[in-house]
Amino acid sequence: MLIEIMTLEFAMKNGARETLADVSLPRITVPPHPDQPDMSALEKAELKARIATMLRQQNAVLVAHYYTDGDLQDLAEATGGCVADSLEMARFAAAHPAQTLVVAGVRFMGETSKILNNEKRVLMPAPDATCSLDEGCPIDLFTDFCDRHPDHTVVVYANTSAEVKARSHWVVTSGIALAVVRHLAEKGGKILWGPDRHLGRYVQRLTGVEMMLWPGCCVVHEEFKARELASLRALHPQAAVLVHPESPAEVVAQADVVGSTTALIQAVRDLPNLEFIVATDAGIFNKMRQLAPDKLLLIAPTAGEGAACESCAHCPWMEMNSLHKLARVLETGEGEIQVAPHLAAKARIPIQRMLDFAATLKKE
Ligand code: SF4
Repeated sequence: MLIEIMTLEFAMKNGARETLADVSLPRITVPPHPDQPDMSALEKAELKARIATMLRQQNAVLVAHYYTDGDLQDLAEATGGCVADSLEMARFAAAHPAQTLVVAGVRFMGETSKILNNEKRVLMPAPDATCSLDEGCPIDLFTDFCDRHPDHTVVVYANTSAEVKARSHWVVTSGIALAVVRHLAEKGGKILWGPDRHLGRYVQRLTGVEMMLWPGCCVVHEEFKARELASLRALHPQAAVLVHPESPAEVVAQADVVGSTTALIQAVRDLPNLEFIVATDAGIFNKMRQLAPDKLLLIAPTAGEGAACESCAHCPWMEMNSLHKLARVLETGEGEIQVAPHLAAKARIPIQRMLDFAATLKKE
């Protein structure tokens, strides 16, 4: 791992400066998409009923991310849990009285639930499911970078380890990143942003705040292709283009709506368009179809020039979650997430800061 850190500076069109950390990140191995066992409708219904019973018996609630399997999402809602983006998952888990939180998502989501609810049991169907942003921001490298810039406010995306959160001043999700950075801008000062460079660049462009960006990326959003998206738009001129800001700038530039998963879902529900091209994980279609069953949803292209298409618009780590694994963790108690209390206490501070800030926005 390269420890030496330099910076590259770019003048932005709006005159603000963006600085990209020239850090040699560890190589990230993207797992293949897992095979899911075939089940008849009856077998699936029986399995869901068994899980629902176990959730009730164990005073447990299921919280699922929009990118997980549609059956898990439906089951979460049917059993009194929630389907949400990571900000809402954290809020819901913190407020819910259940003694066991079952988090269907990727590791940092389970850790965040544990950090906010250290006295509760947190289970994950896929505790090994990681995230390329988390993997691309190892604590030793990140600490070294922060230590070299002690005059910067450290703002990290929720897709990070408990250790990285503990080293930061603020944790943000894509749903609240702009508001937090604008809030910090009012106070003045510089921001060190990690780990998603595309989201950081987007926030920097809209706020004009001086930001240093960690060079990580999401393997799903990184693969959307601008030229192929333009071709698809030409074939569907009436379609609204919805883009998550973890996507490359050339893809974001073609968007009618840029926003968090929640914002993109609301756009499908609320906009008058009958066709949408969506640049985010295809797992989101489950909720979009529920809310707008008559609208045509097209995934933005990931194939094309320079395409490796390892994720092909679906996160292989999110896909590790399944009904079978969920049943297993409830039967065995395996998959419990632990975060050392002293680490949780430190990591809770910037997360709680975000949640408190979000609460003030809701009141406005
Ligand atoms: S979709 Fe991207 S950001 Fe979300 S968990 Fe997967 S790799 Fe991480």
